[in-house]
Amino acid sequence: MAVGIRGKFIIGFDGEEHRLLRDGVVVYEGNRIEHVGKSYSGRVEEWIDASTGLVLPGLINTHLHAAGAPNDKSFLEDIGVRPLYGSNLGENLTALGLSTSRVDMKILARYSLAECLRSGNTTVVEIGMVRALGEEEAVRMIGEMGIRACEGHGLGDGRTVRTQAYNFQTEWLGLEEGLKGLDAATEFVEKYRGAHDGRLMPALYPGGVASCSGDFQRAIRERADQLGVPVSIHAGEWVVEFQIMLRMYGRTPVEYMYDTGLLGSDLIIGHGWAIAGHPLLAFPPVGGGDLALLAETGTTVSHDPVVFVKRGNRMHSHSRYLAAGVNVSIGTDTVPQDMLNEMRIASYVSKLADWDPYSGTSREVFNSATLAGAKAIGRPDLGRLAPGAVADIAVIDMETINNVPCRDPIKNLVNCAQRSDVRTVIVDGQVLVEDGRLLYVDEEKLVRDVQEAGERIWSKIPEKHHFHRTVAEVSPQSFKPWEG
Ligand SMILES: [Zn+2]
Repeated sequence: MAVGIRGKFIIGFDGEEHRLLRDGVVVYEGNRIEHVGKSYSGRVEEWIDASTGLVLPGLINTHLHAAGAPNDKSFLEDIGVRPLYGSNLGENLTALGLSTSRVDMKILARYSLAECLRSGNTTVVEIGMVRALGEEEAVRMIGEMGIRACEGHGLGDGRTVRTQAYNFQTEWLGLEEGLKGLDAATEFVEKYRGAHDGRLMPALYPGGVASCSGDFQRAIRERADQLGVPVSIHAGEWVVEFQIMLRMYGRTPVEYMYDTGLLGSDLIIGHGWAIAGHPLLAFPPVGGGDLALLAETGTTVSHDPVVFVKRGNRMHSHSRYLAAGVNVSIGTDTVPQDMLNEMRIASYVSKLADWDPYSGTSREVFNSATLAGAKAIGRPDLGRLAPGAVADIAVIDMETINNVPCRDPIKNLVNCAQRSDVRTVIVDGQVLVEDGRLLYVDEEKLVRDVQEAGERIWSKIPEKHHFHRTVAEVSPQSFKPWEG
């Protein structure tokens, strides 16, 4: 059945770049886009009215942990562990993870994916659901939510352990252990390739650069080449990891992955801000530095600014990475799983990092959230509206209190639009959000479930926290209670 969308603004793709089409139509049949243009003379069975809307390719979120958020909400804001350079990794986040039961993780995962869809985000590179929920449940969740997702097993032949109050080191578990995990990950790839009409895209997820040895990284590279699937790894994620890598190998995280051959056009580095030359590291680059290695190998860096800006930190900078030739995509990592918010903050922190209004432009971050994300996962049929592309589409109302007056809808999208302006979201030709509501999720029940899960999780924190601190000790309320 051919479905048409009449839009006030349409971001069409001309084969090279996005273009702004005013008063046009997008027509899709099944899960493929048939036509983008001023008008359409063919037969259309159903029209979607977007006469006040901006019609976009669905946004691509290249790094998030659906089951690991939103339990950080109302807890990890305004705090960070000072000896860990403001990061909550290894301490408060560890306590949160240990306090969250599998039942609660399922509730959180559903919530996170619902949040993504509500922000016009149609594809996610989701990391952690397989471990949190188990293979079958993770796959079922992706099916049920209707979203397009990369998914896979977490991998490592080592783990980061706390050896003294604030000393973290890698404990090696042995290559054999890592390879066993890699075989299980490969089975997952083979079993679920093409699942949910191709919406499920299996991937390999080495956990972190410091917990995968050189030999294991080489094994992952070889396996990824055989399987032809995307790979994602945490690297350049926190100061401690950068320092662990220097101490273990005398190489930066990026240099080390260059040496092992793991860098490549199928690799997405989750966060990637801690590179040579970043002011927080006081470690100057040599020559073109890490950026040149990333660019040379075609590696993607997923810029996930919100979680870091909350700790007073930022990538230096979105535009500088792009100028060096790096493919920079955007991810939400944790709460809020809101790509509109993430694009906005990506733009702002780039300007702040460069002291420059011309940095982190709306054009740059929109390209990152669409074309760069598609490139990262090897899908030239996503992140664009063009004949033959997949019908993953979002419609944003531009005649709302947030978005008028509108001359340049991409500037308004990045700077002003809110999730409440997202009217329609289509994944694989299926309408999942209509009139701003999720069609297949009971939102009221979800809200109740998440509140109850939060309260269960917070109550367990003292038991799981390294220093047995309560939620109130770790994260005092903003205001004292009325009762005194
Ligand atoms: Zn992450």
